[in-house]
Amino acid sequence: MNFQKTIRKAVTFKGIGLHSGATTEVVLKPAPADSGITFVRTDVAQKVLIPALNQYVIDTTFSTTIGKNSVAIQTIEHLMAALWGLDIDNAEIEVCGPEIPILDGSSEPFVKKIKKAGIQELDQLKKVFVITKPIAIVEGDRYCYLLSSRTPKITCSIEFAHPYIQKQKLESKLDPKSFMQEIARARTFGFVKDIELLRQKGLIRGGSLDCAVVLDEKNIVNKEGLRFKDEFVRHKILDSIGDMALFGMKILGHFVTHKAGHELHAKLIRKVLTQECGYIIGEKAFEKAQQDRMPIQASLFQPASI
Ligand SMILES: [Zn+2]
Repeated sequence: MNFQKTIRKAVTFKGIGLHSGATTEVVLKPAPADSGITFVRTDVAQKVLIPALNQYVIDTTFSTTIGKNSVAIQTIEHLMAALWGLDIDNAEIEVCGPEIPILDGSSEPFVKKIKKAGIQELDQLKKVFVITKPIAIVEGDRYCYLLSSRTPKITCSIEFAHPYIQKQKLESKLDPKSFMQEIARARTFGFVKDIELLRQKGLIRGGSLDCAVVLDEKNIVNKEGLRFKDEFVRHKILDSIGDMALFGMKILGHFVTHKAGHELHAKLIRKVLTQECGYIIGEKAFEKAQQDRMPIQASLFQPASI
């Protein structure tokens, strides 16, 4: 767990983008320690490198889009969540199109293929950002918090006036094992009543029952039904993890979200980046402090310089 990781060999995904409807090929390649996750748009005149960091988020309407120099890549969150869940810190992701393929609407197809390719440990330690002061974004009845916590975890709650959803709340540990067991398979979802309006806005052109749970007024349209009874809140956790991964390193804290979405997640991470609310340590130092039951004190470690 202490050392940074990358993918062992290149792996390719091909599929339709949920919003653009464009068929895109994505190639994930190994990358050296401390290089982070980087997206590279390859179908434009000049290759554009876009670091997978919150600073490059340019749109959060129904998905998370990053961009640089007028070049954008849409719907990166399910792939980012998969990389976070597999504990991968460094990778170069070539994208030959405007959007990451939606595949089955969850992170599972990414996880399966990357696992098969293998994961390589690198010789540099991971870094962890320890939250010491609470950070919050509140907009009306929707909110997102990051609180100080000895174990990384997330509590997510949602409310939709639909008999299959209503109020759902779930707490999950923020570690790779919990992600694989509880979160990775949860698919995105949408409502029949919203389809027309979203299509008019140029969204969900690639949407189908193969890549989302679709709900009509009272029921689930998909013949196969749900993967979990509370698949909806689990997918919201998946989205939160994908957006949180754009912080660029692990966060030790308690992430609390209520009726949140990509916009609030991005605002929260931006606030963490711009306010003094914690410090960075190597993961080894953090584990040692936990074993020794020592209070983790900022003075023991180099303060954050971001
Ligand atoms: Zn999603």
